[in-house]
Amino acid sequence: MVVELISVGTELLLGNTVNTNAAYLSEKCALLGLSLYYQTVVGDNEDRLSGALKTALDRSDVVILTGGLGPTQDDLTKETAAKVLGKKLLEDAHTRKRIEEYFAGLKVKTIPENNWKQALVPEGAIVADNQNGTAPGLIMEENGKSVILLPGPPGELKPMFEKDIFPYLNRLRPEIIYSVMVKICGMGESAVESEIQDLIREQSNPTIATYAKVGEVHLRVTAKAADEKEAKKLVKPVVKELQKRFGNHIYTTDEHVTLEQAVIQMLRERELTLTTAESLTGGMVASRFTDVPGASEVFRQGLVTYSNRAKRKLLEVKKSTLKDYGAVSEKTAKEMAKNGAFITGADVCISLTGIAGPATEEDKPVGLVYMACSYNNKITVQEFHFSGDRAKIRETSVVMALTLLRECILEEA
Ligand code: AMP
Ligand code: MG
Repeated sequence: MVVELISVGTELLLGNTVNTNAAYLSEKCALLGLSLYYQTVVGDNEDRLSGALKTALDRSDVVILTGGLGPTQDDLTKETAAKVLGKKLLEDAHTRKRIEEYFAGLKVKTIPENNWKQALVPEGAIVADNQNGTAPGLIMEENGKSVILLPGPPGELKPMFEKDIFPYLNRLRPEIIYSVMVKICGMGESAVESEIQDLIREQSNPTIATYAKVGEVHLRVTAKAADEKEAKKLVKPVVKELQKRFGNHIYTTDEHVTLEQAVIQMLRERELTLTTAESLTGGMVASRFTDVPGASEVFRQGLVTYSNRAKRKLLEVKKSTLKDYGAVSEKTAKEMAKNGAFITGADVCISLTGIAGPATEEDKPVGLVYMACSYNNKITVQEFHFSGDRAKIRETSVVMALTLLRECILEEA
């Protein structure tokens, strides 16, 4: 089955907005085993959009359009698609009610008149509710082809795609696709790949695909089968084999679970509280933890001690340590973690100190980072030499800190 994407929006043509929706949808289509041969970007212009859609319908089975479903005058994707397929626009009572409820939830009393336009639906279209906005997603079927309209904001498009569009596309295919994501931390991409060379060489169904992330490696195990039960049966032994090979390096086999979620969950199960003591990451580790809903159960506070003075005052790092060893040293990292836990009364404290660059400090190289974790009267410290620019060094540091924290707790378990 051949799928095609049309991204609608003048801002995309001008380069003001990066077309992340196309990247996201292409990846999902590949995952579904659908062939995607063309992507088009077209501005908010009826004639050119109409032309692009007709061309796409001539050569593809499914056309996915994103953007232009907003309430304003320049949003004309739905109107144009309905015209091309010869469908009338009718008000959908369900969508009207949902828009009312959406605004009620935001405590908005008078709903802008423009928004009622979003309750109009091409006749016969399947409506996909928008959980995060007003514009519904729409699926139109005509002559064995499908035209799918999705809202432009990624925060609306992605949840809608996951919930309604992915299953719809999966049902259109003769075979279904089922996959499990095995997420690994604390190992590099080449180490992971060499561990599974034999599996990759022999693979046919299921397949294993490797995705290198910052500080993590994800392995997607995908099977094709007549139904979900059969596909799951094919995936299961491969996941089991990966679990055998990677053991504790696997932090989840749930696609939606992030490393910080897994760490928070671990702390919650053990009823442990956490403090962060950060220097070069300036609160980024704390921010990753607070991305997780319910983090407050375990994460009480985070300290950003950027200067030597702050390290001394807030974390009681010894003056002599800073003088003799420097702020970026194993000894400073250890004192930060030990004192951070003691001062805040937390069970666990993770500390980071390092040189993010671009300038070197204390005659030490850019990318030198020390991290320490204090747990159960034990302090584990690690030295890293990261490469890349300032942003990359800081981002990698965050992931490695999460990984170190996780390892320290697992070791004691
Ligand atoms: P629209 O639905 O066309 O009104 O788009 C609303 C907003 O969604 C735009 O202002 C963009 O910020 C975002 N957006 C639209 N299309 C895309 C796209 N293809 N990729 C990423 N963001 C997009
Ligand atoms: Mg637009």
